[in-house]
Amino acid sequence: MNAKQRKMLARVIVAALMWGALELLPRVGVELPTPANFCLWLVAYLVIGYDVVLKAVRNIGRGRVFDEHFLMTVATVGALALALYERSGDFAEAIAVMLFYQVGELFQSYAVDRSRKNISELMDIRPDYANVEVDGEVEKVDPDDVEVGSTIVVQPGERVPLDGVVISGASSLDTAALTGESVPRDVAEGGEVVSGCINLTGVLRVRTTREFEESTVSKILELVEDSTSHKSQSENFISKFARVYTPAVCYAALALAVLPPVFFVLSGQAAAWDVWIYRALTFLVISCPCALVVSIPLSFFAGIGGASHAGVLVKGSNYLEALSKTKVVVFDKTGTLTKGVFDVTGVHHSPLPTGELMELAALAEVASSHPIGKSLQRAYGEPLDRSRVSDVQEISGAGIVATIDGKSVAVGNDKLMGQVGAEHVDCHDVGTIVHVAIDGTYAGHIVISDVAKDHAAEAVAALKGAGVEKCVMLTGDTQRVAESVAESLGIDEVHASLLPQNKVERVEALLVEAGATVGEAPAGEDGPGDEEGRRETRRGKVAFVGDGINDAPVLARADIGIAMGGMGSDAAIEAADVVLMDDDPMSIAKAIKISRKCLRIVYQNIGLALTVKFACLALGAFGIANMWLAIFADVGVMVIAVLNAIRALRVPR
Ligand code: ADP
Ligand code: MG
Repeated sequence: MNAKQRKMLARVIVAALMWGALELLPRVGVELPTPANFCLWLVAYLVIGYDVVLKAVRNIGRGRVFDEHFLMTVATVGALALALYERSGDFAEAIAVMLFYQVGELFQSYAVDRSRKNISELMDIRPDYANVEVDGEVEKVDPDDVEVGSTIVVQPGERVPLDGVVISGASSLDTAALTGESVPRDVAEGGEVVSGCINLTGVLRVRTTREFEESTVSKILELVEDSTSHKSQSENFISKFARVYTPAVCYAALALAVLPPVFFVLSGQAAAWDVWIYRALTFLVISCPCALVVSIPLSFFAGIGGASHAGVLVKGSNYLEALSKTKVVVFDKTGTLTKGVFDVTGVHHSPLPTGELMELAALAEVASSHPIGKSLQRAYGEPLDRSRVSDVQEISGAGIVATIDGKSVAVGNDKLMGQVGAEHVDCHDVGTIVHVAIDGTYAGHIVISDVAKDHAAEAVAALKGAGVEKCVMLTGDTQRVAESVAESLGIDEVHASLLPQNKVERVEALLVEAGATVGEAPAGEDGPGDEEGRRETRRGKVAFVGDGINDAPVLARADIGIAMGGMGSDAAIEAADVVLMDDDPMSIAKAIKISRKCLRIVYQNIGLALTVKFACLALGAFGIANMWLAIFADVGVMVIAVLNAIRALRVPR
């Protein structure tokens, strides 16, 4: 509990004690004169409710009349005035309304704080310092001030402050804060380390490869901080609803206070003003929409927190909402369903010695971040002389053309061979074929093969179990490789030999199939309120999962773009709406389950709050509900809704 909450608790206790004392006095025979009695009640009322009254007055001054503070103030001041007018001495109701309202608020702020804290604990990955080694001396520096290429030392127990490559030492890293994965990851010399992990066993000397701003930790924190600013449609619904609802109930209450007495007077009966004013005041207390206003953002917040605990970063509650409606999941192959770490299984049809061909291919790929490029460099294994390479051109979906020792070397698929005019020889081995041409003359091919990720087949099955109707695979690789992968994983539909722009077209076709109207702004941007908008919100959503730079346009075009956080390129992570920290396709099904649970909670809360509200409002209007019932309706529903919202924090198994 923070200081503000403790102060509120003290006010609640003082007001409750005063209330008890004032109730007790007449019963033990102490009859205070009416003015003194009223003053004491008024003090108790102000102790508990002064800030609500002040806020109501201040908001009226700002022209924002109809809010919950206004409802509470009018209802309680009205109740006090009525009790005074009737000389009933029954001031307890006004106190009770304020007291329970404040208890509800206190509970809610405590709950919000708790879940915030839970999430920030999950996200407590910001490193405080980096140990920079300068001329053999180590000094503690703010991670922000460390330049790329510095050498840092990470002791066991310390958090890795910046992304880098290990230059000496070996250790295992706890990546739980980033990925939710509890099994430590081993690193050794030459291995990459990612900031935010905790070094568990050995001392590591690391050469930094990114500035702090660009490092994984900063990226993740940024994503999480931004996530709350994207409002979901349910949240927008509530704020729109409150804008219409609150004034409407105020006018309804006014009508309830005035119309029946006027009618009675006109028809020659007693007016009974006090009865109708009391009913109108009760009506106001019941109508306070706090349960809705509070619990829905809280549910989404908890859902995003729960997802991040499972290693899935969702960049906004609108995406969590969209995830819950996922009907089609489209996968990129390389790096998404497969590990993207290729082994060389053969070198054929080359006039050059194998080593020389491998060297040329590795040199051409020297600057590539494509999984194929990285694998060819790894397979060659020897140090590469970058100065021999110039004019590197990466042709996405095809390969690379570079000038090596003055000769133009093309490394890529058959499309690339077509482009450089080299006649390639097909290969009958199963695998991805990397052809090489030198100055437009064919120089053989390297057969490489990739393996499916450990959980890929399970992930596809889990998605089906989570209600996804169709899993599709898109790839730039050949039909043969694509089909063999798809078959082993249980994918429903495969499209091979695609260029990046073909992938966009494919996803657009799937969007149309799912019922979207392509060509206008993507869903949720400005939310057309008409027929189309409604169809847009109801249809099944299409998610695309990818990792590469060339996947960024597709990630942006799909309803939900999902990127690999570990292996994925920065561009992909930037363009995505959801990031999988552990690169495990299994997390997608988890994320969908979390989103479904979260949305279920949101609808439960809306349903509960509205049902109870309208039932009580009706009872109040007919004079059956008194203020006590009104208080229960208001605070009770809020407490239940908040408790329900917190459930979203827990990940379903
Ligand atoms: P995927 O859709 O499987 O992720 P990409 O669209 O990234 O594949 O690439 C499609 C194809 O283009 C690859 O299968 C490969 O044949 C070729 N290719 C792309 N980039 C490279 C590269 N850097 N080196 C060699 N071949 C490449
Ligand atoms: Mg790819």
